[in-house]
Order: sequence, then structure tokens, then C-alpha cells
Amino acid sequence: KPQMMNGKRGLIMGVANNRSIAWGIAKACKDAGAELAFTYQGDALKKRVEPLADQLDAFVAGHCDVTDAESLDAVFAAIEEKWGKLDFVVHCIAYADKDELTGRYVDTTAENFSKSMFISCYSFTAVAQRAEKLMTEGGSMLTLTYYGAEKVMPHYNVMGVAKSALETSVRYLAEDLGKQNIRVNAISAGPIKTLAASGIGDFRYILKWNEYNSPLRRVVTIEEVGDSAVYLLSDYSRGVTGEVHHVDAGYNVVGMKAVDAPDI
Ligand code: NAD
Repeated sequence: KPQMMNGKRGLIMGVANNRSIAWGIAKACKDAGAELAFTYQGDALKKRVEPLADQLDAFVAGHCDVTDAESLDAVFAAIEEKWGKLDFVVHCIAYADKDELTGRYVDTTAENFSKSMFISCYSFTAVAQRAEKLMTEGGSMLTLTYYGAEKVMPHYNVMGVAKSALETSVRYLAEDLGKQNIRVNAISAGPIKTLAASGIGDFRYILKWNEYNSPLRRVVTIEEVGDSAVYLLSDYSRGVTGEVHHVDAGYNVVGMKAVDAPDI
């Protein structure tokens, strides 16, 4: 593979296991020559993340729960001590209570709304605040979003509202940080069977629907999201910021069910 990320050092947040989108991005960045650091959320995931980090010769920067500002500070302090600077950061973090990801959006509670919004949207801004200080030679920040931000998708509910806010925050962050040559973008990935996705009601139906109706007539993989991430994180996209880039086999451009789609 072309070494598009030679000499770049980046932090990958949100690896839970080897099906995580963050893992697909990490593998692609490593293949393109980048040096990586990982965080994990709590001891249960530490056991999963450490061997994965070893596979890519990555530095484990520590535990990070984005609801705990001290853990975020500690991770960025560890990165500063190890590397002194940072070239890119990948934010693959989202959360909504499972009960909110089925049924009606209108029933969302205030508590779950705030929690989903904080973890799935504000945390990217909290990461940007800390990463900015280490991106002394410019940089690239990337987050993950979903089509449920743009259109109503079954069961996505409060997460759709949080993703809309996340996409808007990408644009505001791009403006704030652009003068320092720090770029901020998002990938809007098609549905992929991960731990987080398993909480969404009827997820298998959604996968099939996308497979039958996207222009490429299939769903996407974490490896494909990873390769697109390399473009957004490398200098090849140096003229691109504030963008939401769809990696969804083209699903977002389609207006209705494909004529050849089987009934499901
Ligand atoms: P995943 O379960 O592998 O990853 C989700 C990660 O979020 C986990 O590593 C988890 O530890 C982390 N997380 C949750 N709450 C956290 C907190 N309080 N502090 C720190 N970390 C926390 O699932 P994934 O599908 O790879 O999700 C990654 C991102 O991709 C999410 O933003 C998700 O919304 C987005 N996305 C997923 C899909 C899909 O279909 N899987 C599609 C589009 C976008």
C-alpha cells in the first residue's frame, strides 16, 4: 500500500474489539505507515484492546471514559509525554441507552437525551480541545456519523439527533481550527455489524435493506471505512475540511427502493 501516512502519529479512540470501525481505521493507518496510540474504556475492554494494540506496535495511552474529564486529560498528558505532538485523532465513540434505540423518538427521556448527546456529540469537541494543543504543526481530526443524522431511520431515534449535532460541530470546529491548519471531517459510514450496532432494533433488516438498495448492491466493511479514513487523515485531503464524507456503497444518493430489490 502507498505509505501516505509515513511519519504521522495519531490517537485512535473507540476500539472495543476487532469488529470496531476504529480497528478498521487503525489497521489502514498502520498499513499506510502511521504510528498509533489507542485508548480503551474500562478494564473489560483493556483486555481486548492491549493485544490488538500489540498487533500494530501501538502505544496504549490508557483508560478513557469521555464522561470523566480527568481520564481524557490523562490520555492527552500521556501522548504529550510520549510524542510531544500529535498529527491526527480518530473519534469512534457513541452511546445511547438500548431502550432508546427501539420504539418512538418522542418517548426519549431528558436523562438519556443528555447522556447520548454528551457521549456521542460533545465528547468530540472535548477531544478537539485537548488535541488542538498538541497539533502544533497542523493536523486532522475525524469522527464517525450515520445517515440517521440526515433522514429518519428506523430505531435510530436520539442517536440521529446526536449525530446531526455532531455533524454540525464538525463544521464549527473546522472553522475554529482551520487557521492552525487543523482539519476536521466526518465519515458517514453505512451500517456495519459491530458491538454498538447490535443495540439497534431490527439491525439485520437494516443491513439487508442497504444491501439490496445501495448502488453497489452490498454493505461496506471496516476495511473500506479505514481506507477512506486514510485519505481524510493524510495530506492527500489537505484541501478538505468541515466535510461529511459518505462511505456507504452510495446508499445516501438513492431516493426509493431499487426495482430489482427482493421483498424482505
Ligand atoms: P463499537 O461498539 O465497536 O465502538 C463504540 C465505541 O464507543 C466502543 O469502543 C466504546 O468503548 C466507545 N464508548 C462508548 N461510550 C464511551 C464513553 N463514555 N467513553 C469512551 N468511549 C466510549 O461500534 P462501532 O460501530 O465501531 O462505533 C464507532 C462509531 O461509528 C460510533 O460513533 C458509531 O455511531 C459510528 N457508526 C457506526 C455505524 C455502524 O453501523 N456500526 C455506522 C455509522 C457510524
